[in-house]
Formats: sequence, structure tokens, C-alpha cells
Amino acid sequence: MERFITQDNLQRFAAGLAEKKNVLAPVASGGTTTFRRLRPGMQLDFSRMAVISPKDATFPRNETLLTVQHYPEESGKRMELQEHLPEGEMVVIGCRPCGTRGKLVFDPVYETQAIKDPYYIRRRDGATFITLACARPETTCFCHSVGSGPADEEGSDILLTAVEGGFVAKAVTEKGEQLLGDSLFEDAGAKAEEAAASNASARKLMGEAHDFSSAAEKLLKRFDDMDFWQTQSDKCISCGACTYMCPTCYCFNITDDEAGLVSRRLRTWDNCMSHTFTLEGSGHNPRSTKAHRLKNRMGHKFSYYPDLHGGQIACCGCGRCIKQCPAGVDIRQVVMAAQEYPDER
Ligand code: SF4
Ligand code: SF4
Repeated sequence: MERFITQDNLQRFAAGLAEKKNVLAPVASGGTTTFRRLRPGMQLDFSRMAVISPKDATFPRNETLLTVQHYPEESGKRMELQEHLPEGEMVVIGCRPCGTRGKLVFDPVYETQAIKDPYYIRRRDGATFITLACARPETTCFCHSVGSGPADEEGSDILLTAVEGGFVAKAVTEKGEQLLGDSLFEDAGAKAEEAAASNASARKLMGEAHDFSSAAEKLLKRFDDMDFWQTQSDKCISCGACTYMCPTCYCFNITDDEAGLVSRRLRTWDNCMSHTFTLEGSGHNPRSTKAHRLKNRMGHKFSYYPDLHGGQIACCGCGRCIKQCPAGVDIRQVVMAAQEYPDER
């Protein structure tokens, strides 16, 4: 099902949803674009890709998993524990296909036969994704090289494509189809063809895809070659921006925070590019140098994860780590260097 909505009506539609549900949407903020909880008066900003993807919708940067209320001994009361499982629904509007697809990398990790993460699963199941196709991919984008594209529908409930005067909205799931029943949507008519042409043009602008199919094997071949990893990581300053910006990074840390008689167990995003990530209590660190850490990051995304999960690369090609790296480390160049490295050396 395809419908058309004007720009003004999309803003109204988003504001209407925000009255009933939590809506996460890109808004202009401090000279850039960032996802925020949509509040009355906030304008959607679709002019550029948001700095951080809407990963918070399914995996917030920090969350309280549980609180423990302690009581003074003389009260005779036992401590009380309260779990904070997520409730309510979330609608994400205006995420790009790469950001939406990020959660597909989480699924085989956070929901398996043996392990089910109720926090992630509840958020994912309660989330609706209204994705905006990219009309002008940036030079840092490489979604087409990792099995996706600028109008990829996978993981979305609705795919929006910008056309003259508004957007063509295509329902991808039943949930999306129900939303398109809103009276603000009109018959798409010839606009549907305009959207198809725009999506085809965006894909063409990306040019030829790079073939990463040998990356898994070639990265393993470089596993013990620390000279290679030293060279690749020379510029890195271990700031962790690449991991925090990444829609597919799913590592977390658990800490306990105490304030008087109440303590909280928190989960926060973790960062494998930091030396503390693998620092053991004894002081030993199996990934003691940034070369070890970059090797792990590249190997995980392009080799170990695909080996475990049917060949799926744990990177959606959004290019955020390339754009935000203060040292100019380019994930594509590192993996390509491993692919091009002569085997006999
Ligand atoms: S963003 Fe760049 S400098 Fe910072 S940790 Fe990642 S690769 Fe290193
Ligand atoms: S590794 Fe870089 S390009 Fe790949 S999904 Fe993460 S931020 Fe995007």
C-alpha cells in the first residue's frame, strides 16, 4: 500500500502520534541533527542524517534495570527489589534505512533459544519504525556494500520517500498499513512512480558496491599479524566515538549505583575501543594496545559475527564512525587493507 502525505501533514501526523505515544524524531539542535523525544512545537528535521542513530529506541544509552530499597536493620523489614521492564510504545520517525536495520544485528544476540533479553525484546516489539529513504547518499555511506541500500525496507514498518511537496509512504508491515489509514494520508497516484524513480536514482548515485565477501577469511589470516594492526591503528586516539555512534554496536556494562538506602543497577553502552573494556581485576588486559582493540572491532563486525550468524555483516554501512572519527580512521579502508594484503607475506 502506498499513500502520499504533504510535508505539513507529516509534521501534524507526528505531533498527533506524540500526544499518544513516545515519538523519537530527528530535530535540529546546536547546529546539527539529533534524535529527540518529540515535544509540542518541535519541528522534524529531515535535511541530513542524524549524528547518532535512533538505537536508543531499542537499546538506550543508559537504563535502570532494577532498584533495591534497603531498610535500617531496626525496622525489621527486608530489602525490596523492583525490576524496571520497559512499558509503552515508541514510534521512530525519520530514521534512515541503515539506522533502522541496526536492530537486525541485535536480534540473533539478544533473542536466542537460550538467552532472551526482556529489556531489548520489549522495546523492539513495542517500536514502530517510519524510515526515510536516502535521496542523496553521502560519500561515507556504504550500505550497498553490506547487503542494504538507500531505500531498504528491512526492519521498517513504513518507508517514506521524499517527492515534490511531501512524501510517498509505503506500508511494509501490517502495523505500517494501519498507520497509513490516517486521514492525513492521500492517494499516492503518480507520486508513487516519482518515489520509485528517486529511490533508483539514489542507488545509482552510490556507484558500484565493494565486495566484502572475502573479508571474514582475510581478517582471520591477519589475526596474529600485529604489525598490520599497529599500522592500521596508528592514528586512533581510543576515544570510542566510533562505537558510541554505531547503530550495530551492542556491548553494555552493568554497574551498581548507591545513594543512601536506595541502589540502582544500571546498564550503559560500553566501548570496546577503550583499554578498560577488557581490563581484568588482576590488572591483566588481553587487549592491552589499541592495535588489539581495532583488530577485535574489525574482526567482530566483518568476521566473527558473520561466521556465527549466517554471513550477516555486523555493520549497516551508515558511515557514522567514519564521519565522527577525530583521527580519520575509515573502517572501509581497514577491512579493504586486510582483503588486499598478499597472503604469502
Ligand atoms: S573514533 Fe577513531 S579515534 Fe576514536 S576510537 Fe574510533 S577509530 Fe579510534
Ligand atoms: S561500524 Fe561504522 S559504518 Fe558500520 S554500522 Fe557502525 S558506525 Fe555505521
